[in-house]
Amino acid sequence: MTPGVGLILLGRQGAGKGTQCVRLSRHYVVPHISTGDMLRAAVTAGSPLGIQARRYMDAGELLPDDIMIAIVGNRLHEADAKIRGYILDGFPRTVNQAEALIRITSTARPVDVVIDLEVPRELVLARLAARRVCVDCQTNYSTLIRPRRDWTCDVCGGDVVQRTDDTEDAITRRLDLYDQQTAPLIDFYRDRDELAVVDGVGHPDEVLHRLNTTIESRRK
Ligand code: AMP
Repeated sequence: MTPGVGLILLGRQGAGKGTQCVRLSRHYVVPHISTGDMLRAAVTAGSPLGIQARRYMDAGELLPDDIMIAIVGNRLHEADAKIRGYILDGFPRTVNQAEALIRITSTARPVDVVIDLEVPRELVLARLAARRVCVDCQTNYSTLIRPRRDWTCDVCGGDVVQRTDDTEDAITRRLDLYDQQTAPLIDFYRDRDELAVVDGVGHPDEVLHRLNTTIESRRK
């Protein structure tokens, strides 16, 4: 079996992280830990976390760091992530979360590499406006790639919809937030010599190849 990996994937929303994470997680046989997916599941379940999360998510705002740090800390200490590793998608989003992650990984699997999947802002804006997602299995679709007439999922037959936080206002707000709060993470990880920048523009297969090459060269 391929060795596992401890990977953090950074990048603007709409950079293609979701698509690549699914493939990378199959390849390295590690869980894809997406904080956005975890929160959306909580919203769907109507749990206390979900009720709280929905307010922030619909406004395009970040949840408080302490809530997110607790969620990710628990998840990284589960057996699959401890033994094989993980692909972290959507966390950390702030320098405060990144500092907490150093503490978390001191007793969980260490991080091998932090990848910044680089896609220009104008391109992600167009991609996000066209994004549709299956409500049941979270598979992503794009009206840019395939305009659809019936909105059912090819994988599970579920309804394919636009995310409630993919409105133009919320998208612009999330991208602004990314530039303000998350971009400093790039400097944080560059200073720690843990950062690799991968070009996210191009066919998904090409991007995946670049990601695999980078991971293999950086694996500790
Ligand atoms: P995403 O699917 O990664 O775009 O996340 C959707 C929303 O979930 C974000 O706009 C935030 O409201 C919330 N969220 C996800 N991850 C985090 C995080 N690490 N810190 C704070 N809020 C988060």
